[in-house]
Amino acid sequence: MARISEDFARLESGYLFPEVARRIRRWQERNPGADVMRLSIGNTTEPITPHIAEAMKKRICMLSDRRTYTGYGDEQGDTALREALMEHYRKEYGVCLPLSSFFISDGAKSDAANIQSIFSRSSIPAVQDPSYPVYVDSSVAGGHTGAYDSSKGGYSSIVYMRSDASNGFVAEPPEEHADLIYLCFPNNPTGAVATADRLRAFVDYAHRENAIIIFDSAYSDYIETEGIPHSIYEIEGAEDCAIEIGSFSKNAGFTGVRLGWSIVPETLKAEDAPEGEIHRIWNRRQCTFFNGASNISQSGGLAALSEEGRKECLGLVRYYKDNARIILDGLQKAGLSCTGGVDSPYVWVACPDGMTSWDFFDFLLDKAHTAVTPGSGFGRAGEGYVRVSAYGHKEDIEKAVNAIAEAVR
Ligand code: PLP
Repeated sequence: MARISEDFARLESGYLFPEVARRIRRWQERNPGADVMRLSIGNTTEPITPHIAEAMKKRICMLSDRRTYTGYGDEQGDTALREALMEHYRKEYGVCLPLSSFFISDGAKSDAANIQSIFSRSSIPAVQDPSYPVYVDSSVAGGHTGAYDSSKGGYSSIVYMRSDASNGFVAEPPEEHADLIYLCFPNNPTGAVATADRLRAFVDYAHRENAIIIFDSAYSDYIETEGIPHSIYEIEGAEDCAIEIGSFSKNAGFTGVRLGWSIVPETLKAEDAPEGEIHRIWNRRQCTFFNGASNISQSGGLAALSEEGRKECLGLVRYYKDNARIILDGLQKAGLSCTGGVDSPYVWVACPDGMTSWDFFDFLLDKAHTAVTPGSGFGRAGEGYVRVSAYGHKEDIEKAVNAIAEAVR
């Protein structure tokens, strides 16, 4: 008889977004005809820009012509796109890594989860608390954890690295041993960024503990503060202990198009694997289970990395960051305590008057007709906060911020 995976069975049911949707539905049933303004989602809303859209249209035309049609590409991705990415890292971040390090994928979320599969089940994961849920869930599904402990608000054998007001929402390396350390900067959900010194502490820890850092840089184009690293490889020595995962979703608007990358250098080492082995196994994994990213998306990605494309992407990022500024200024003026929103599309807001995340969610839904995301859904340390997202049309963001300000005054 077929049996389901014990590891998947251990996953707590996806609680956060279904519960947000359920509460909105219930509220709408009680308030027929009333609209809900949604500052709860991390989904892009603005159209793909002209140069990038044109490149994808051209590729579609090529696919519809027998003379220029192409089928499967390389599992690692189109060489031209990998070269452009390599050049992008060199030119914009001063990071020089060989072409072999770059693997194109269908997005950062799948890479963040799939990378687990090449490490031993006995590897101990460490995650920032709060964090993007896929790091924890893929650790559970990958068999790296024990059962969920509701009294602890987390899984046994995951090391939770608390990010709260006391450390500026940037966790310290843990006291205990961990093998796979997930880091995400600019951070979802808190919007915090890490200085080079903070990242260096993690690289030193990884060297000391023979650990591997999995660095999610999905929001790196949102960084504007001078001196903040955009890539973990800006830290010396990271190329032998860190994997980086990137995305075209939040700068080129590819949330629906789907395109990302992982960087797995040949210089990486593991406790039981000499230099080259992690890279070799990841390459083997991709060639076995992945047939390459869409060729249309890859043409768009190549255009996004051109001079014209970079200008367009940074313009799109500017749009969302202007929204974030409207949120940050508006909510601070209304007396709410906020962080993030400067190098990030997310503003992290402390719930007033001792409210829990869900209390404040319900309050804003009821009094401001606005949905936000309860911070507690991202981990225990997110309790007492909500995440407000800058993804939306400017006029809708302004309306929602005014409504929140009015409600909390
Ligand atoms: N990483 C982080 C931190 C995210 O917040 C998101 C999406 O919200 C992703 C990765 C997903 O990226 P992609 O669309 O490339 O799968």
